[in-house]
Amino acid sequence: MSQPDLPDPQQLRQSARALRNVLESEGIRDSRVLDAIENTPRHRFLPEGQEAAAWDNEAHAIGCGQTISQPYIVAVMTSALQLTPESHVLEIGTGSGYQAAVLSRLCHSVVSVECLPELHRRAQQVLADLGIRNVRCVQGDGWQGWPEEALYDAIIVTAAAPEIPPALPAQLKPGGRLVLPVGPTGGEAVQELLACTRRDEELITRILCQCRFVPLTGGDQSDR
Ligand code: SAH
Repeated sequence: MSQPDLPDPQQLRQSARALRNVLESEGIRDSRVLDAIENTPRHRFLPEGQEAAAWDNEAHAIGCGQTISQPYIVAVMTSALQLTPESHVLEIGTGSGYQAAVLSRLCHSVVSVECLPELHRRAQQVLADLGIRNVRCVQGDGWQGWPEEALYDAIIVTAAAPEIPPALPAQLKPGGRLVLPVGPTGGEAVQELLACTRRDEELITRILCQCRFVPLTGGDQSDR
């Protein structure tokens, strides 16, 4: 059997530009976020043999029952984080590492937590192969956040929780942003994508859109 061809660089550039245009036409305005998505090689984060689907605006299976998020949702969530080059960010749910790679282009440092060892290792390897040095992948239960490296300017949760995990607000700097899907999971269930800002001890919350994520595990499982 012949080896699959290496992706043609010109074709890649065209696919990346086409995805950018789709996101723009769907209302994504933040040009830094659009640049980050255009310049992040999404095909590297998909399982072998599925790279051809990498540049469509869809979620895809990445193994272990998990998914790489749809680029549109990555764009909405990343825009809502309002990152600066100084931001220190926590991601809960590394998955393929794609969202972390997009974040890495827009901020100073990312800590990304994944509970499944296989996905953690795979993402860590892909990010290293791409020479991305400002993402630290850690393995553990992100339901508790990652207190060791708090406080964060922004926290993004890329799996759906039935409520805002109670440990997270205290790990945000004052004025920091928390973006996450909250609601039921399973079957056709949809969640609300929330963007929250920490004001003193309070969270000011607004709803961005509806979305569909895999469940966030961990915490107290008895009520789920
Ligand atoms: N951001 C990812 C998509 C994440 S899918 C990407 O860009 O590809 C959600 C991920 O969250 C899955 O990999 C799942 O294993 C992980 N996850 C679920 N619950 C978790 C928890 N409590 N702590 C850490 N990771 C969790």
